[in-house]
Amino acid sequence: MPASPAWPPKSLPRLFVRAPLGAGARVELDAGQANYLGNVMRLGAGAEVLLFDDSSGEWLARISEAAKKRMTLSVERRTRGPETVPDVWLAFAPVKRAQTDWLVEKATELGAARLIPVITQRTVTERVKLERLEAIAIEAAEQCGRTRLPEIIEPVTLKQLLAGRNPERRVYFADETGGEPVVNAFMPGPALILTGPEGGFTEEERELIREAPNAVPVSLGPRILRAETAALAALAVFMASAGDWTN
Ligand code: SAM
Repeated sequence: MPASPAWPPKSLPRLFVRAPLGAGARVELDAGQANYLGNVMRLGAGAEVLLFDDSSGEWLARISEAAKKRMTLSVERRTRGPETVPDVWLAFAPVKRAQTDWLVEKATELGAARLIPVITQRTVTERVKLERLEAIAIEAAEQCGRTRLPEIIEPVTLKQLLAGRNPERRVYFADETGGEPVVNAFMPGPALILTGPEGGFTEEERELIREAPNAVPVSLGPRILRAETAALAALAVFMASAGDWTN
């Protein structure tokens, strides 16, 4: 049986654009996006592309002008309304760059609404390049079909995170020393999943979190997971039990 041809790809390319979208709008792509559509995807005038702007859903657009480093698209019609993302924030202690990049990519695919790097006593990587993380989240959203981007905020300390939170937002704190089994832990309502650094939380931090109103220690099973695995495992269980995987 002949292999199915890999080219052209079956789905339309999807791009995030900063311009507000609406029927009849004209959108100028930046050089990187024009290069992607023209040289990588080999698309020219007349080709269809899907666009999203993080607020108005997804739109079908057509390439109206294609030059070497420039491309203009005309927006035709809305293909999907803005998605409703479950109200779950993921606060994670940043790890090494490659692992943090991976975490941001996967958390975007899983549907986190907000990503918060948290500085803890044992956090080793305190420098986080937000622009880089935003670019990773945009690429993941383009690929997985999200129409909204996760909000990625500047790093905060653990104390700031706990003090600045509306106490109605439950903190599900991944605690490798024990807690509620994660499959039963998540309840309806705004959620904040909190995971620690490679060295774990200190006893002092563990106490601080446990004393915070509406904080629930959760266990992710009998094995010690790497920090980024723990964050994504908890987020996946949230989506399966209290998020939007059953919709
Ligand atoms: N303190 C540990 C040690 O050095 O043995 C390891 C910390 S673990 C690599 C990093 C973070 O992942 C922890 O702070 C916790 O938030 C989360 N984590 C890992 N395994 C877990 C489990 N089985 N249950 C709950 N949380 C876990």
